[in-house]
Amino acid sequence: MLQDIAPHIYDNTFAPYAVEEGDYTVTIEKRRIYLYEEEGRALFPVYREGDKEDYLYLFSVDEKRFFLDLKRRIPEGTKACTFHELQHLSPRYLVYGACVAIQLGSWYSDNVYCGRCGKKNVFDTKERMLTCPDCHTAIYPRINPCVITGVIHDDEIIMTQSLGWEKKHFGLVAGFAEIGESIEDCVRREVFEEVGLHVRDLTFYKSQPWPQSDSLLFGFFCRLDGDPSIHRQESELAQALWVDRKEIPEGRDQNSLTGEMIEYFRTHENKEIFG
Ligand SMILES: [Zn+2]
Repeated sequence: MLQDIAPHIYDNTFAPYAVEEGDYTVTIEKRRIYLYEEEGRALFPVYREGDKEDYLYLFSVDEKRFFLDLKRRIPEGTKACTFHELQHLSPRYLVYGACVAIQLGSWYSDNVYCGRCGKKNVFDTKERMLTCPDCHTAIYPRINPCVITGVIHDDEIIMTQSLGWEKKHFGLVAGFAEIGESIEDCVRREVFEEVGLHVRDLTFYKSQPWPQSDSLLFGFFCRLDGDPSIHRQESELAQALWVDRKEIPEGRDQNSLTGEMIEYFRTHENKEIFG
């Protein structure tokens, strides 16, 4: 998946480092990152000189440190890349760094002012936090929990296609957790809302950080409980259907949890999936 960059190591331990010559610099604007691109390879701009106060440490990948340019200067020759465009570049560990940098950089730029009293927030030096100097509100990065659900009945799984995404691959039942809801209840609610079915035997598969929507995805498989007739949520889905294991094409994109779960279902029996 996107975050699987071993043997490289992503380290997001917060530290108030000062930028040094050779560190990577990150300019984020409207959830796009400015990078050099050379024959499909992503290259980060590098700090040479300038006011060190203008740069904020974000994280490291191996020995490479990434700093946010708070003045949002655009290095000459760089190109703005969206999360989607990054998926076509290499190397993977730098692409993942770029994705996470978009998420973190956007969080900082979206929280310049205190949402409670409107004063300008200040950077904390001990942890990844912003604080209002007036009303002392503490602001931490927000992550949205979301479920990806493989609903299984014998040799079939429910595959869906969202409205507006008809040219894309089929996905699985998915949705964001609501306030006051457990992640298991989110699975049951999303399945009922999207396809009108009840499920049982919820089995956690894996999770995935998904910077594009500031999400943490929780992958579950579950069994159909009762009638298999699908009642599609027409306001959200263009299609929802039962697909047999043998009819699923090989070669799904393995960057996403959805792609990996579909491939896992295609290549494993139910007794392996549910243990
Ligand atoms: Zn405030």
